[in-house]
Amino acid sequence: MIYADNAATTKMSRTAIDAMLPFMEETWGNPSSLYEAGQKAAEALSKARERIAACIGADAKEIYFTSGGSESDNWAIISAAQNGKKKGKTHIISSAFEHHAVLHTLKKLEKEGFEIELLDVHQNGMVYPEQVEQALREDTCLVTLMYANNEIGSVLPVGEIGALCKKKNIVFHTDAVQAAGRLPIDVKEQNIDLLSLSAHKFHGPKGTGVLYARRGIPLVNWLEGGAQERGKRAGTENVPAIMGMAAALEESCKAMQKDNELLLDLRLRLMEGLSKIPHSALNGDEISRLPGNVHFCFEGIEGESLLLLLDEKGICASSGSACTSGSLDPSHVLLSIGRPHEIAHGSLRLSLSAQNTREEVEQILEIVPKTVEYLRNMSPLWRDKINGKQPFIL
Ligand SMILES: *Cc1c(COP(=O)(O)O)cnc(C)c1O
Repeated sequence: MIYADNAATTKMSRTAIDAMLPFMEETWGNPSSLYEAGQKAAEALSKARERIAACIGADAKEIYFTSGGSESDNWAIISAAQNGKKKGKTHIISSAFEHHAVLHTLKKLEKEGFEIELLDVHQNGMVYPEQVEQALREDTCLVTLMYANNEIGSVLPVGEIGALCKKKNIVFHTDAVQAAGRLPIDVKEQNIDLLSLSAHKFHGPKGTGVLYARRGIPLVNWLEGGAQERGKRAGTENVPAIMGMAAALEESCKAMQKDNELLLDLRLRLMEGLSKIPHSALNGDEISRLPGNVHFCFEGIEGESLLLLLDEKGICASSGSACTSGSLDPSHVLLSIGRPHEIAHGSLRLSLSAQNTREEVEQILEIVPKTVEYLRNMSPLWRDKINGKQPFIL
């Protein structure tokens, strides 16, 4: 099997698994218990908080454990909105290609009376600081923009955006779920106030993540009950998962530079190879993109049919669209960069990790063009295009 869907989830690393086992087999006490078995777990938890903080340039006191990226996004945005409302500030800036955990939370806030302004995404998949600067207002309480897009891989200049927000004293949240372990993060240097992470995107376990909240940015009480997470999110901590997350983040940050050298090489080869397919187009910026992300539209095919055939050949990929979640609407990300519906339906996302090899990339380049051609040959619409009865779009 060739696994090329690392934007959806990643395989757990051996290091992460090994870091978890002792907290299931031996040190399984409740960190809130006062006897030694509990206190050992509490100590490990507290160390994990420090280790995770160190990876992103934060203090341990600024790290809150959550169930993953979606929860962190919800908690961060709702907290910033409530803080703003108290001061009469109800304008929120975001973009059209955010993850649904952000967009749906903003929709909810809109119904409660907040004014949501979604910045346009440029054709190349970028949102620029100048757009943010122009949109900032006296009553803006939050700017939430993702560090790296999960579909087309665009990497936004979050440091510059953070600096703009800081100058105007406006809270800046970034969904860094795709960036963590793949791109450098320094919340101080990049002026990030709130940041979301998810362990399963950097070879850690599923169902665990982090919300970083800069000191002085109050979070709303999220879950009532015990005193965990400084009394803001009750519930016994998932100690094994958190230990796996800390180990996975350290490991991927340490290997980042070396891994990215390989990934940039594989990405270039894939982009060159796939762009040879006629009537195709790369989505997202060629340079400012995640090292392992390759995303194409192929005219005249359905992304879902392509995925099924690739699956038969042992390639796990994604269309990067909402179709995979049971809806037939084309991806909001592809629509945001101006792809027409017909083109947006024929998309393919390949997201690599450092575990992928050159041989696998060559195999992908052997199989994908043939499969696209096969699907096109079966399509009446494609025949019309070839015969000049319908125009080509790409
Ligand atoms: C995966 C992902 C999320 C959701 O994270 P979960 O831990 O699966 O809830 C949020 N944002 C982005 C950009 C993602 O890629």
